Amino acid sequence: MNSLIKIDNRMIDIFDRIDHLINLDIPGRGVVKFLYQFARKKVDYPLTLLASQKLNQIIKRGDIVFIATGWPDRPEITPDIAETDGPPGAASLARAINRAYNAVPFIFIEENLVQAMTMVMNAAGLKVLPPTQAIKTPTYHAPINSASILSFPIEKDRAIKRAGELIGQYQPKAVITIEKGGMNEKEVIHTSRGVETTKYISKIDYLVQEAIKNKITTIGIGDGGNEIGMGCIQEEIRKHLPFGDRCKCPCKAGIAPSTKTDFLITAAVSNWGAYGLEAGLALLKGKPDVFHNGEIERRVLEKAADAQFIDGISGYTEPGADGLSAHIHICFVEILKELITKSIKKLKIEG
Ligand SMILES: [Zn+2]
Repeated sequence: MNSLIKIDNRMIDIFDRIDHLINLDIPGRGVVKFLYQFARKKVDYPLTLLASQKLNQIIKRGDIVFIATGWPDRPEITPDIAETDGPPGAASLARAINRAYNAVPFIFIEENLVQAMTMVMNAAGLKVLPPTQAIKTPTYHAPINSASILSFPIEKDRAIKRAGELIGQYQPKAVITIEKGGMNEKEVIHTSRGVETTKYISKIDYLVQEAIKNKITTIGIGDGGNEIGMGCIQEEIRKHLPFGDRCKCPCKAGIAPSTKTDFLITAAVSNWGAYGLEAGLALLKGKPDVFHNGEIERRVLEKAADAQFIDGISGYTEPGADGLSAHIHICFVEILKELITKSIKKLKIEG
């Protein structure tokens, strides 16, 4: 294990606080408290500890990590509308993975959102390059921090074929999904309000399933109970969440996703789940700068609005997410950063 800091009770306590911070229901949607309880009951340690520890054990310089995001919202008007919860989290996590390990993140999103996502990645400081060029950057003699952004199919047969090709060709160390619609057992994807939205969303479930078949680590991050990763608590969601076992669409099978990732991180805002994972990597590396900061958060959220991602709650192309302003997200990032910075300092002094 390449971590600089031991996992002991002090460390578990810090991760507990990260878990609690990212699950603090400031948007007041009500479900995250339950999602977190269900997920935490299944495992012995904080959710962010388990996922970040695994990544810290397996990712080395030059490795490829897949990150999928993107939620087309109001798609009946046009599938070009997508929300600001997801892409900023993916971009910041990609930055953190690049910074911690000099690894190469590959982002997957719907084809019509690749351009917009490129702007968001640039705002996080990563140069977007085609895969053949991006994979050369970790060993180049001058620093160039890069990522690739690839589209992933919506249509089932193409998605299954593409998943096999991508996993085979790139052998990623992990597949991480952030705010990505998850299929129920009838392969239907729903909004958290129980409405079907299958035909607009990339079928990332097949990429995750292909990763699982190949024993590649999978992590799902979500905030509503209908995202990939929530399959880990499928039964609890079916029993306790609105539309859990009975949706509004003809499938009648409920919103609870069925694909089970190795790790699940719940959060009040999915972006925050990605920040929790980032925070974990920073802690385990003993380097606060692995985690992004308020200034980067501002740039990323502003660029996301410029790229015409909308706040899924307010419906404005404004630099915020899930009904919270950019200012709140910036403060949130700074609070998390302070927790990591102080903790690393204390752990280093105490030894
Ligand atoms: Zn349904």
